[in-house]
Amino acid sequence: MTYSYTQIRQYLSCPRRYKHRYLDGWKEKDTRAAMLFGRVFEQAVAAYFQRRDAAAVLYREWSAHQGSGLHFSERDSWDRMLQSGVQLLDRFAQDDRVRVRQPGRNLQIQFTKPLAGQNDFVAYVDAIGELDGTRCLLEWKTTASRYPDEPTGLLALDPQLVCYSWVTGIAEAAQVVFVRKRLVEIQYFRTVISNEQREEFSHLVQDSIQRIESAEFLPHSGIRFPQNPCTSCPYIGLCLGRQDLTEAALVRRPGADDLGWLDELTY
Ligand code: SF4
Repeated sequence: MTYSYTQIRQYLSCPRRYKHRYLDGWKEKDTRAAMLFGRVFEQAVAAYFQRRDAAAVLYREWSAHQGSGLHFSERDSWDRMLQSGVQLLDRFAQDDRVRVRQPGRNLQIQFTKPLAGQNDFVAYVDAIGELDGTRCLLEWKTTASRYPDEPTGLLALDPQLVCYSWVTGIAEAAQVVFVRKRLVEIQYFRTVISNEQREEFSHLVQDSIQRIESAEFLPHSGIRFPQNPCTSCPYIGLCLGRQDLTEAALVRRPGADDLGWLDELTY
């Protein structure tokens, strides 16, 4: 079985949710505008490093989703997202703090790590390049509001970066956060992931896989009224036996469990 960061994250957030998604084949509908825009924007960033017209790529790819029934948050619309995306690409080029040499090899790189048994772990790292002259693995994020930058060093606790550092063996890691607010902003964070963190993550993965293989799928959503994570979980219709909620949020692809690692490309 091939595992990914997204699978382990889903299992740790709620084992029942993992079962709905990876064993029973229920998948969230791809109608979230913010998520789709993030994917499109990453293609535009790749075009920038390939010395192509990044704004034209953004427009072309985002146009493919125009009028396709996307769900926008209150402050967003198709036009507004496009506009902020173009501004962010301009700002990124002006800042000129990130370099990716040989973009054909160093963008969206697949790493596979063999695990115990017949298992392996796959990760797609956005890029390996330089931030302000330091070689590091790079992750792009698009968001509607800025990421917290206090307390200092917070990024070292980011589980996705720890995961990618474990898979690649690269200690230096950076996140470039493209903030789509009215006055756009780009945040550049850099951190160093320690050996100890990589070892701990390895244990976390092995431990989660053991529990998955033992079919431990008890629901534990971390209930804490009124901030019960079930309220924002796309699988709530299945857990409540509500067909209307299920049909609104999910599609079923039975037998999709073997391809679950493909989710890694969509988050
Ligand atoms: S609705 Fe709650 S219990 Fe059910 S899968 Fe989602 S988080 Fe888990």
